[in-house]
Amino acid sequence: MTAHTSFFENVIRYVDQAAALTKYPKGLLDQIKQCNSVYSFKFPIRDSQGNIETIRAWRVEHSHHKLPTKGGIRYAPEVNEDEVMALAALMTYKCAIVDVPFGGAKGAIQFDPNKYPVDQVERITRRYTHELAKKNFIGPGVDVPAPDYGTGEREMAWIADTYMAMNPGQIDALACVTGKPLSQGGVRGRREATGRGVFYALREACNNAEDLKKLGLDRGIAGKRIVVQGLGNVGSHATKFCREEGDARIIAIAEREGAIMNPNGLIEADVIAYRKETGSILNFPGSTNIINTRDALELECDVLIPAALENQITAENANRIKARIVVEGANGPTTPEAEEILRKKGVLIIPDVYANAGGVTVSYFEWLKNLSHVRIGRMGKRYEQASELRMMRMIEVLTGKKFTEEQIAAAAIGPDELDFVNSGLEDTMVVSYQRLREIWKSNPQIPDLRAAAFYDAIGKIAISYLELGIFP
Ligand code: NAD
Repeated sequence: MTAHTSFFENVIRYVDQAAALTKYPKGLLDQIKQCNSVYSFKFPIRDSQGNIETIRAWRVEHSHHKLPTKGGIRYAPEVNEDEVMALAALMTYKCAIVDVPFGGAKGAIQFDPNKYPVDQVERITRRYTHELAKKNFIGPGVDVPAPDYGTGEREMAWIADTYMAMNPGQIDALACVTGKPLSQGGVRGRREATGRGVFYALREACNNAEDLKKLGLDRGIAGKRIVVQGLGNVGSHATKFCREEGDARIIAIAEREGAIMNPNGLIEADVIAYRKETGSILNFPGSTNIINTRDALELECDVLIPAALENQITAENANRIKARIVVEGANGPTTPEAEEILRKKGVLIIPDVYANAGGVTVSYFEWLKNLSHVRIGRMGKRYEQASELRMMRMIEVLTGKKFTEEQIAAAAIGPDELDFVNSGLEDTMVVSYQRLREIWKSNPQIPDLRAAAFYDAIGKIAISYLELGIFP
Protein backbone atom coordinates (compact mmCIF):
# COMPACT_ATOMS: atom_id res chain seq x y z
CA MET A 1 0.00 0.00 0.00
CA THR A 2 1.32 3.45 -0.79
CA ALA A 3 1.87 5.87 2.07
CA HIS A 4 -0.85 8.19 0.81
CA THR A 5 -3.87 6.13 -0.18
CA SER A 6 -5.72 3.38 1.60
CA PHE A 7 -7.25 0.36 -0.13
CA PHE A 8 -10.75 1.77 0.44
CA GLU A 9 -9.67 5.15 -1.00
CA ASN A 10 -8.34 3.30 -4.04
CA VAL A 11 -11.76 1.71 -4.57
CA ILE A 12 -13.47 5.11 -4.11
CA ARG A 13 -11.08 6.53 -6.71
CA TYR A 14 -12.15 3.92 -9.26
CA VAL A 15 -15.81 4.60 -8.46
CA ASP A 16 -15.34 8.38 -8.76
CA GLN A 17 -13.64 8.05 -12.13
CA ALA A 18 -16.52 5.97 -13.51
CA ALA A 19 -19.20 8.04 -11.73
CA ALA A 20 -17.89 11.20 -13.40
CA LEU A 21 -19.06 9.75 -16.71
CA THR A 22 -22.64 9.37 -15.45
CA LYS A 23 -25.37 11.93 -14.76
CA TYR A 24 -26.66 10.50 -11.47
CA PRO A 25 -27.26 12.97 -8.61
CA LYS A 26 -24.31 13.49 -6.27
CA GLY A 27 -26.32 12.34 -3.23
CA LEU A 28 -27.12 9.05 -4.93
CA LEU A 29 -23.48 8.50 -5.92
CA ASP A 30 -22.40 9.25 -2.31
CA GLN A 31 -24.91 6.70 -1.03
CA ILE A 32 -23.57 4.10 -3.47
CA LYS A 33 -19.95 4.70 -2.40
CA GLN A 34 -20.21 4.60 1.38
CA CYS A 35 -20.33 1.53 3.63
CA ASN A 36 -23.86 1.23 5.04
CA SER A 37 -22.91 -0.67 8.23
CA VAL A 38 -19.49 -1.20 9.78
CA TYR A 39 -19.49 -3.56 12.75
CA SER A 40 -16.16 -3.61 14.54
CA PHE A 41 -15.93 -5.76 17.64
CA LYS A 42 -13.69 -7.68 20.01
CA PHE A 43 -14.21 -10.90 21.90
CA PRO A 44 -12.20 -12.91 24.40
CA ILE A 45 -10.81 -16.39 23.78
CA ARG A 46 -9.25 -18.72 26.35
CA ASP A 47 -6.38 -21.01 25.30
CA SER A 48 -5.62 -24.49 26.68
CA GLN A 49 -3.48 -22.98 29.47
CA GLY A 50 -6.34 -20.75 30.56
CA ASN A 51 -4.82 -17.53 29.19
CA ILE A 52 -7.29 -15.04 27.77
CA GLU A 53 -6.64 -13.27 24.48
CA THR A 54 -8.77 -10.51 22.98
CA ILE A 55 -9.52 -11.03 19.28
CA ARG A 56 -10.41 -8.20 16.91
CA ALA A 57 -13.00 -8.74 14.18
CA TRP A 58 -15.23 -6.98 11.65
CA ARG A 59 -18.23 -7.42 9.43
CA VAL A 60 -18.87 -4.64 6.95
CA GLU A 61 -22.06 -4.44 4.88
CA HIS A 62 -21.27 -2.02 2.11
CA SER A 63 -24.60 -1.78 0.32
CA HIS A 64 -28.14 -2.71 1.27
CA HIS A 65 -29.59 -1.88 -2.15
CA LYS A 66 -30.15 -5.62 -2.48
CA LEU A 67 -30.48 -8.18 0.30
CA PRO A 68 -28.95 -10.33 1.54
CA THR A 69 -25.49 -8.82 1.47
CA LYS A 70 -22.73 -11.24 0.54
CA GLY A 71 -18.98 -11.51 0.96
CA GLY A 72 -16.16 -13.65 2.28
CA ILE A 73 -14.50 -13.84 5.67
CA ARG A 74 -10.75 -13.27 5.85
CA TYR A 75 -8.42 -14.58 8.57
CA ALA A 76 -5.16 -12.66 8.53
CA PRO A 77 -2.90 -11.12 11.19
CA GLU A 78 -2.52 -7.82 9.31
CA VAL A 79 -6.15 -7.31 8.28
CA ASN A 80 -7.66 -3.93 9.23
CA GLU A 81 -10.93 -2.03 8.99
CA ASP A 82 -9.96 -0.10 5.86
CA GLU A 83 -9.20 -3.37 4.05
CA VAL A 84 -12.52 -4.95 5.07
CA MET A 85 -14.41 -1.83 3.93
CA ALA A 86 -12.61 -1.91 0.57
CA LEU A 87 -13.30 -5.61 0.09
CA ALA A 88 -16.97 -5.14 1.04
CA ALA A 89 -17.29 -2.32 -1.49
CA LEU A 90 -15.68 -4.44 -4.22
CA MET A 91 -18.29 -7.13 -3.48
CA THR A 92 -21.14 -4.70 -4.19
CA TYR A 93 -19.72 -3.78 -7.61
CA LYS A 94 -18.75 -7.38 -8.35
CA CYS A 95 -22.27 -8.70 -7.69
CA ALA A 96 -23.75 -5.97 -9.88
CA ILE A 97 -21.32 -6.72 -12.75
CA VAL A 98 -22.19 -10.43 -12.88
CA ASP A 99 -25.89 -9.88 -12.13
CA VAL A 100 -25.90 -11.65 -8.79
CA PRO A 101 -28.74 -10.11 -6.74
CA PHE A 102 -26.82 -9.32 -3.53
CA GLY A 103 -25.39 -6.26 -1.82
CA GLY A 104 -21.68 -6.39 -0.93
CA ALA A 105 -20.19 -7.32 2.44
CA LYS A 106 -16.94 -8.64 3.91
CA GLY A 107 -15.78 -9.95 7.26
CA ALA A 108 -12.45 -10.50 8.94
CA ILE A 109 -10.78 -11.79 12.07
CA GLN A 110 -7.37 -10.35 12.85
CA PHE A 111 -5.30 -13.46 13.57
CA ASP A 112 -3.07 -16.01 11.86
CA PRO A 113 -4.97 -19.31 11.83
CA ASN A 114 -1.74 -21.22 11.07
CA LYS A 115 -0.41 -20.26 14.51
CA TYR A 116 -3.41 -21.63 16.45
CA PRO A 117 -4.45 -25.24 17.09
CA VAL A 118 -7.50 -26.34 15.10
CA ASP A 119 -9.80 -26.48 18.13
CA GLN A 120 -8.90 -22.87 18.89
CA VAL A 121 -9.61 -21.80 15.29
CA GLU A 122 -12.97 -23.52 15.63
CA ARG A 123 -13.73 -21.72 18.89
CA ILE A 124 -12.81 -18.36 17.37
CA THR A 125 -14.95 -19.05 14.29
CA ARG A 126 -17.96 -20.11 16.35
CA ARG A 127 -17.63 -17.13 18.69
CA TYR A 128 -17.35 -14.77 15.70
CA THR A 129 -20.55 -16.27 14.24
CA HIS A 130 -22.31 -15.88 17.59
CA GLU A 131 -21.35 -12.20 17.72
CA LEU A 132 -22.62 -11.67 14.15
CA ALA A 133 -25.92 -13.42 14.93
CA LYS A 134 -26.49 -11.34 18.08
CA LYS A 135 -26.34 -8.15 15.99
CA ASN A 136 -28.27 -9.55 13.01
CA PHE A 137 -25.17 -9.49 10.79
CA ILE A 138 -25.74 -13.02 9.49
CA GLY A 139 -28.78 -14.85 8.10
CA PRO A 140 -30.11 -16.25 4.81
CA GLY A 141 -31.99 -13.03 4.01
CA VAL A 142 -29.67 -10.62 5.84
CA ASP A 143 -25.97 -11.23 5.24
CA VAL A 144 -24.38 -14.43 3.90
CA PRO A 145 -20.62 -14.95 4.40
CA ALA A 146 -18.34 -17.17 2.28
CA PRO A 147 -14.66 -18.19 2.24
CA ASP A 148 -11.86 -15.74 1.54
CA TYR A 149 -8.13 -15.54 2.28
CA GLY A 150 -7.33 -17.88 5.18
CA THR A 151 -10.75 -19.59 5.35
CA GLY A 152 -12.37 -22.49 3.52
CA GLU A 153 -15.08 -25.15 3.70
CA ARG A 154 -14.18 -26.17 7.24
CA GLU A 155 -14.81 -22.68 8.65
CA MET A 156 -18.03 -22.33 6.64
CA ALA A 157 -19.31 -25.61 8.14
CA TRP A 158 -18.62 -24.31 11.67
CA ILE A 159 -20.43 -21.05 10.86
CA ALA A 160 -23.50 -22.89 9.50
CA ASP A 161 -23.57 -25.22 12.49
CA THR A 162 -23.34 -22.35 14.99
CA TYR A 163 -26.04 -20.35 13.22
CA MET A 164 -28.36 -23.38 13.09
CA ALA A 165 -27.82 -24.09 16.77
CA MET A 166 -28.89 -20.50 17.53
CA ASN A 167 -31.90 -20.69 15.20
CA PRO A 168 -33.49 -24.10 15.77
CA GLY A 169 -36.16 -25.04 13.26
CA GLN A 170 -35.40 -22.18 10.86
CA ILE A 171 -35.96 -24.09 7.63
CA ASP A 172 -33.64 -21.96 5.46
CA ALA A 173 -30.86 -21.73 8.03
CA LEU A 174 -28.30 -23.56 5.84
CA ALA A 175 -28.43 -20.63 3.41
CA CYS A 176 -26.79 -18.40 6.07
CA VAL A 177 -23.34 -19.09 4.60
CA THR A 178 -21.93 -20.47 1.33
CA GLY A 179 -18.74 -22.33 0.43
CA LYS A 180 -19.79 -25.18 2.74
CA PRO A 181 -18.67 -28.79 2.28
CA LEU A 182 -21.04 -30.89 0.17
CA SER A 183 -22.22 -32.88 3.17
CA GLN A 184 -23.26 -29.63 4.89
CA GLY A 185 -25.34 -28.20 2.05
CA GLY A 186 -22.53 -27.06 -0.25
CA VAL A 187 -22.78 -27.15 -4.02
CA ARG A 188 -20.54 -29.05 -6.42
CA GLY A 189 -18.02 -26.76 -8.11
CA ARG A 190 -17.94 -24.02 -5.44
CA ARG A 191 -14.44 -24.88 -4.21
CA GLU A 192 -12.90 -24.34 -7.63
CA ALA A 193 -15.36 -21.68 -8.85
CA THR A 194 -13.23 -18.55 -8.43
CA GLY A 195 -10.24 -20.13 -10.20
CA ARG A 196 -12.47 -21.58 -12.92
CA GLY A 197 -13.98 -18.13 -13.39
CA VAL A 198 -10.49 -16.62 -13.72
CA PHE A 199 -9.81 -19.16 -16.47
CA TYR A 200 -13.04 -18.30 -18.33
CA ALA A 201 -12.22 -14.58 -18.04
CA LEU A 202 -8.74 -15.07 -19.50
CA ARG A 203 -9.98 -17.44 -22.20
CA GLU A 204 -12.62 -14.91 -23.26
CA ALA A 205 -10.06 -12.10 -23.44
CA CYS A 206 -7.66 -14.31 -25.42
CA ASN A 207 -10.37 -15.26 -27.91
CA ASN A 208 -10.48 -11.73 -29.29
CA ALA A 209 -7.94 -11.69 -32.11
CA GLU A 210 -8.04 -7.89 -32.50
CA ASP A 211 -7.28 -7.22 -28.81
CA LEU A 212 -4.56 -9.88 -28.73
CA LYS A 213 -2.91 -8.48 -31.85
CA LYS A 214 -2.64 -5.09 -30.13
CA LEU A 215 -0.88 -6.84 -27.25
CA GLY A 216 1.53 -8.51 -29.68
CA LEU A 217 0.05 -11.94 -28.92
CA ASP A 218 -1.61 -14.65 -30.97
CA ARG A 219 -5.30 -15.37 -30.46
CA GLY A 220 -6.20 -18.11 -27.97
CA ILE A 221 -5.10 -19.14 -24.50
CA ALA A 222 -3.21 -22.26 -25.71
CA GLY A 223 0.54 -21.97 -25.23
CA LYS A 224 0.37 -18.71 -23.24
CA ARG A 225 3.13 -18.48 -20.62
CA ILE A 226 1.57 -17.82 -17.21
CA VAL A 227 3.09 -16.64 -13.92
CA VAL A 228 0.90 -17.02 -10.83
CA GLN A 229 1.32 -15.46 -7.39
CA GLY A 230 -0.37 -17.45 -4.59
CA LEU A 231 -1.09 -21.16 -4.75
CA GLY A 232 -4.15 -21.11 -2.49
CA ASN A 233 -7.73 -21.68 -3.53
CA VAL A 234 -7.85 -19.12 -6.35
CA GLY A 235 -4.30 -19.51 -7.68
CA SER A 236 -4.25 -23.31 -7.69
CA HIS A 237 -7.58 -23.67 -9.47
CA ALA A 238 -6.94 -20.85 -11.95
CA THR A 239 -3.65 -22.50 -13.01
CA LYS A 240 -5.23 -25.97 -13.11
CA PHE A 241 -7.98 -24.93 -15.55
CA CYS A 242 -5.71 -22.69 -17.66
CA ARG A 243 -3.39 -25.66 -18.04
CA GLU A 244 -5.87 -28.56 -18.33
CA GLU A 245 -8.68 -26.90 -20.29
CA GLY A 246 -6.81 -24.00 -21.90
CA ASP A 247 -3.53 -25.75 -22.72
CA ALA A 248 -1.57 -22.80 -21.31
CA ARG A 249 1.88 -23.21 -19.69
CA ILE A 250 2.51 -22.31 -16.03
CA ILE A 251 6.11 -21.12 -16.11
CA ALA A 252 6.43 -19.74 -12.57
CA ILE A 253 4.68 -19.97 -9.21
CA ALA A 254 5.26 -17.51 -6.34
CA GLU A 255 4.43 -18.31 -2.74
CA ARG A 256 5.29 -16.69 0.63
CA GLU A 257 8.63 -18.48 0.98
CA GLY A 258 9.91 -17.79 -2.55
CA ALA A 259 9.12 -18.57 -6.17
CA ILE A 260 10.01 -21.30 -8.64
CA MET A 261 10.35 -21.18 -12.38
CA ASN A 262 10.41 -23.73 -15.17
CA PRO A 263 10.02 -22.48 -18.76
CA ASN A 264 8.85 -25.97 -19.80
CA GLY A 265 5.87 -25.72 -17.49
CA LEU A 266 4.90 -26.60 -13.93
CA ILE A 267 1.98 -28.72 -12.74
CA GLU A 268 0.44 -26.92 -9.77
CA ALA A 269 -0.87 -30.12 -8.14
CA ASP A 270 2.66 -31.57 -8.02
CA VAL A 271 4.02 -28.34 -6.55
CA ILE A 272 1.28 -28.35 -3.89
CA ALA A 273 2.07 -31.97 -2.98
CA TYR A 274 5.80 -31.17 -2.82
CA ARG A 275 5.15 -28.13 -0.60
CA LYS A 276 3.00 -30.21 1.72
CA GLU A 277 5.78 -32.74 2.06
CA THR A 278 8.74 -30.34 2.42
CA GLY A 279 7.10 -27.19 3.78
CA SER A 280 8.25 -25.07 0.81
CA ILE A 281 7.91 -24.80 -2.95
CA LEU A 282 11.64 -24.01 -3.24
CA ASN A 283 13.90 -26.65 -4.79
CA PHE A 284 10.95 -28.23 -6.61
CA PRO A 285 12.56 -30.79 -8.98
CA GLY A 286 13.35 -29.39 -12.44
CA SER A 287 12.74 -25.76 -11.46
CA THR A 288 14.92 -22.73 -10.66
CA ASN A 289 14.48 -20.93 -7.32
CA ILE A 290 13.66 -17.22 -7.12
CA ILE A 291 14.50 -16.25 -3.56
CA ASN A 292 12.72 -12.87 -3.47
CA THR A 293 9.19 -14.00 -4.24
CA ARG A 294 8.06 -10.58 -5.54
CA ASP A 295 10.68 -10.80 -8.32
CA ALA A 296 8.50 -13.47 -9.95
CA LEU A 297 5.95 -10.78 -10.84
CA GLU A 298 8.55 -9.24 -13.14
CA LEU A 299 9.36 -12.37 -15.14
CA GLU A 300 9.11 -12.46 -18.93
CA CYS A 301 5.66 -14.00 -19.59
CA ASP A 302 2.38 -13.46 -21.44
CA VAL A 303 -0.01 -13.55 -18.50
CA LEU A 304 0.41 -12.65 -14.83
CA ILE A 305 -2.20 -13.89 -12.34
CA PRO A 306 -1.81 -12.23 -8.94
CA ALA A 307 -3.90 -14.52 -6.70
CA ALA A 308 -2.64 -13.82 -3.18
CA LEU A 309 -3.15 -10.36 -1.71
CA GLU A 310 -3.80 -6.70 -2.46
CA ASN A 311 -1.19 -4.06 -3.39
CA GLN A 312 1.26 -6.36 -5.12
CA ILE A 313 1.69 -4.35 -8.33
CA THR A 314 2.52 -0.82 -7.27
CA ALA A 315 4.13 2.33 -8.70
CA GLU A 316 7.42 0.84 -7.52
CA ASN A 317 7.41 -2.36 -9.64
CA ALA A 318 4.82 -1.65 -12.39
CA ASN A 319 7.42 -0.44 -14.87
CA ARG A 320 9.26 -3.73 -14.60
CA ILE A 321 6.19 -5.94 -15.21
CA LYS A 322 6.66 -7.73 -18.54
CA ALA A 323 3.33 -9.57 -18.79
CA ARG A 324 1.01 -8.38 -21.57
CA ILE A 325 -2.14 -9.47 -19.67
CA VAL A 326 -2.75 -9.20 -15.92
CA VAL A 327 -5.74 -11.20 -14.64
CA GLU A 328 -6.58 -10.16 -11.09
CA GLY A 329 -7.45 -13.35 -9.21
CA ALA A 330 -6.86 -11.54 -5.90
CA ASN A 331 -8.81 -8.50 -4.78
CA GLY A 332 -6.99 -5.19 -5.26
CA PRO A 333 -3.56 -6.52 -6.37
CA THR A 334 -2.91 -3.46 -8.57
CA THR A 335 -2.83 0.07 -7.14
CA PRO A 336 -4.34 2.91 -9.22
CA GLU A 337 -0.84 4.39 -9.75
CA ALA A 338 0.44 1.04 -11.04
CA GLU A 339 -2.59 0.68 -13.26
CA GLU A 340 -1.80 4.01 -14.90
CA ILE A 341 1.74 2.81 -15.66
CA LEU A 342 0.56 -0.55 -17.02
CA ARG A 343 -2.05 1.12 -19.20
CA LYS A 344 0.63 3.34 -20.75
CA LYS A 345 2.63 0.19 -21.46
CA GLY A 346 -0.41 -1.20 -23.28
CA VAL A 347 -1.01 -4.03 -20.77
CA LEU A 348 -4.53 -5.51 -20.67
CA ILE A 349 -5.79 -5.71 -17.07
CA ILE A 350 -8.76 -8.00 -16.47
CA PRO A 351 -9.96 -6.44 -13.22
CA ASP A 352 -10.75 -8.20 -9.94
CA VAL A 353 -14.34 -6.94 -9.78
CA TYR A 354 -15.03 -9.08 -12.80
CA ALA A 355 -12.20 -11.65 -12.98
CA ASN A 356 -12.70 -13.23 -9.55
CA ALA A 357 -16.51 -13.03 -9.54
CA GLY A 358 -16.83 -16.78 -10.21
CA GLY A 359 -16.82 -17.48 -6.47
CA VAL A 360 -19.77 -15.28 -5.64
CA THR A 361 -21.60 -16.49 -8.74
CA VAL A 362 -21.45 -20.12 -7.60
CA SER A 363 -22.13 -19.03 -4.01
CA TYR A 364 -25.37 -17.61 -5.40
CA PHE A 365 -26.16 -21.05 -6.87
CA GLU A 366 -25.41 -22.66 -3.49
CA TRP A 367 -27.72 -20.19 -1.74
CA LEU A 368 -30.48 -20.99 -4.26
CA LYS A 369 -29.90 -24.71 -3.69
CA ASN A 370 -30.22 -24.27 0.08
CA LEU A 371 -33.41 -22.22 -0.26
CA SER A 372 -34.98 -24.68 -2.70
CA HIS A 373 -33.92 -27.70 -0.60
CA VAL A 374 -33.16 -29.78 -3.66
CA ARG A 375 -29.94 -30.74 -5.44
CA ILE A 376 -29.57 -28.72 -8.63
CA GLY A 377 -30.63 -30.88 -11.59
CA ARG A 378 -32.20 -33.64 -9.48
CA MET A 379 -35.61 -33.31 -11.08
CA GLY A 380 -34.43 -33.16 -14.70
CA LYS A 381 -31.39 -35.41 -15.09
CA ARG A 382 -33.19 -38.64 -16.05
CA TYR A 383 -35.67 -36.79 -18.21
CA GLU A 384 -32.91 -35.09 -20.19
CA GLN A 385 -30.97 -38.34 -20.47
CA ALA A 386 -34.06 -40.02 -21.94
CA SER A 387 -34.52 -37.10 -24.38
CA GLU A 388 -30.90 -37.39 -25.52
CA LEU A 389 -31.36 -41.13 -26.02
CA ARG A 390 -34.57 -40.59 -28.02
CA MET A 391 -32.70 -38.10 -30.23
CA MET A 392 -29.90 -40.63 -30.87
CA ARG A 393 -32.40 -43.36 -31.74
CA MET A 394 -34.08 -40.95 -34.14
CA ILE A 395 -30.71 -40.23 -35.83
CA GLU A 396 -30.20 -44.01 -36.15
CA VAL A 397 -33.56 -44.36 -37.87
CA LEU A 398 -32.87 -41.44 -40.22
CA THR A 399 -29.30 -42.48 -41.15
CA GLY A 400 -29.71 -46.22 -40.98
CA LYS A 401 -26.51 -46.40 -38.87
CA LYS A 402 -26.19 -47.66 -35.29
CA PHE A 403 -24.40 -45.91 -32.40
CA THR A 404 -22.17 -48.14 -30.28
CA GLU A 405 -23.06 -48.68 -26.61
CA GLU A 406 -19.98 -46.57 -25.72
CA GLN A 407 -21.14 -43.67 -27.91
CA ILE A 408 -24.57 -43.78 -26.30
CA ALA A 409 -23.08 -43.94 -22.82
CA ALA A 410 -20.87 -40.93 -23.60
CA ALA A 411 -23.58 -38.74 -25.14
CA ALA A 412 -26.85 -39.62 -23.39
CA ILE A 413 -25.82 -38.72 -19.85
CA GLY A 414 -28.18 -35.98 -18.65
CA PRO A 415 -26.64 -33.01 -16.85
CA ASP A 416 -25.87 -33.27 -13.14
CA GLU A 417 -25.30 -30.58 -10.52
CA LEU A 418 -21.69 -29.89 -11.54
CA ASP A 419 -22.67 -29.55 -15.22
CA PHE A 420 -25.34 -26.98 -14.34
CA VAL A 421 -23.03 -25.05 -12.00
CA ASN A 422 -20.18 -24.89 -14.52
CA SER A 423 -22.55 -23.99 -17.34
CA GLY A 424 -24.06 -21.15 -15.28
CA LEU A 425 -20.59 -19.96 -14.30
CA GLU A 426 -19.25 -20.07 -17.86
CA ASP A 427 -22.24 -18.21 -19.22
CA THR A 428 -21.94 -15.55 -16.50
CA MET A 429 -18.25 -14.95 -17.16
CA VAL A 430 -18.58 -14.95 -20.97
CA VAL A 431 -21.65 -12.69 -21.12
CA SER A 432 -20.20 -10.27 -18.54
CA TYR A 433 -16.86 -10.02 -20.37
CA GLN A 434 -18.56 -9.22 -23.65
CA ARG A 435 -20.73 -6.56 -21.99
CA LEU A 436 -17.72 -4.91 -20.31
CA ARG A 437 -15.69 -5.00 -23.51
CA GLU A 438 -18.57 -3.46 -25.42
CA ILE A 439 -18.84 -0.61 -22.85
CA TRP A 440 -15.06 -0.07 -23.06
CA LYS A 441 -14.80 -0.14 -26.83
CA SER A 442 -17.93 1.93 -27.54
CA ASN A 443 -17.13 4.80 -25.14
CA PRO A 444 -13.94 6.81 -25.82
CA GLN A 445 -14.04 8.23 -22.27
CA ILE A 446 -13.71 4.77 -20.77
CA PRO A 447 -10.00 3.91 -20.78
CA ASP A 448 -10.06 0.25 -19.81
CA LEU A 449 -12.00 -2.79 -18.62
CA ARG A 450 -11.90 -1.71 -14.96
CA ALA A 451 -13.49 1.65 -15.72
CA ALA A 452 -16.07 -0.19 -17.84
CA ALA A 453 -16.77 -2.58 -14.96
CA PHE A 454 -17.33 0.23 -12.43
CA TYR A 455 -19.41 2.16 -14.95
CA ASP A 456 -21.59 -0.91 -15.51
CA ALA A 457 -21.95 -1.57 -11.77
CA ILE A 458 -22.76 2.04 -10.82
CA GLY A 459 -25.48 2.17 -13.46
CA LYS A 460 -27.12 -1.01 -12.23
CA ILE A 461 -26.98 -0.01 -8.54
CA ALA A 462 -28.22 3.51 -9.28
CA ILE A 463 -31.21 2.14 -11.18
CA SER A 464 -32.16 -0.14 -8.31
CA TYR A 465 -32.16 2.87 -5.94
CA LEU A 466 -34.04 5.07 -8.41
CA GLU A 467 -36.67 2.40 -8.97
CA LEU A 468 -37.17 2.19 -5.21
CA GLY A 469 -38.13 5.85 -5.39
CA ILE A 470 -35.49 6.79 -2.79
CA PHE A 471 -33.91 9.37 -5.08
CA PRO A 472 -35.79 11.67 -7.47
P1 NAD B 1 -5.95 -18.71 0.21
O1 NAD B 1 -5.72 -18.43 1.64
O2 NAD B 1 -6.57 -20.01 -0.19
O3 NAD B 1 -4.59 -18.58 -0.63
C1 NAD B 1 -3.73 -17.47 -0.61
C2 NAD B 1 -2.35 -17.97 -0.98
O4 NAD B 1 -1.46 -16.85 -1.14
C3 NAD B 1 -1.74 -18.86 0.12
O5 NAD B 1 -1.24 -20.05 -0.46
C4 NAD B 1 -0.63 -17.98 0.70
O6 NAD B 1 0.45 -18.73 1.22
C5 NAD B 1 -0.23 -17.17 -0.51
N1 NAD B 1 0.49 -15.95 -0.17
C6 NAD B 1 0.34 -15.14 0.90
N2 NAD B 1 1.20 -14.11 0.85
C7 NAD B 1 1.91 -14.27 -0.28
C8 NAD B 1 2.97 -13.53 -0.89
N3 NAD B 1 3.43 -12.41 -0.34
N4 NAD B 1 3.48 -13.99 -2.07
C9 NAD B 1 2.99 -15.12 -2.65
N5 NAD B 1 2.00 -15.85 -2.11
C10 NAD B 1 1.47 -15.44 -0.94
O7 NAD B 1 -6.81 -17.47 -0.31
P2 NAD B 1 -7.74 -17.41 -1.59
O8 NAD B 1 -9.11 -17.75 -1.18
O9 NAD B 1 -7.09 -18.14 -2.71
O10 NAD B 1 -7.73 -15.83 -1.86
C11 NAD B 1 -6.67 -15.19 -2.54
C12 NAD B 1 -7.16 -13.85 -3.07
O11 NAD B 1 -8.31 -14.05 -3.90
C13 NAD B 1 -7.60 -12.85 -2.01
O12 NAD B 1 -7.32 -11.55 -2.46
C14 NAD B 1 -9.10 -13.06 -1.97
O13 NAD B 1 -9.79 -11.90 -1.48
C15 NAD B 1 -9.39 -13.28 -3.43
N6 NAD B 1 -10.66 -13.98 -3.70
C16 NAD B 1 -10.92 -15.22 -3.18
C17 NAD B 1 -12.12 -15.85 -3.49
C18 NAD B 1 -12.45 -17.24 -3.03
O14 NAD B 1 -13.48 -17.78 -3.46
N7 NAD B 1 -11.63 -17.89 -2.21
C19 NAD B 1 -13.08 -15.19 -4.28
C20 NAD B 1 -12.76 -13.93 -4.80
C21 NAD B 1 -11.55 -13.34 -4.51
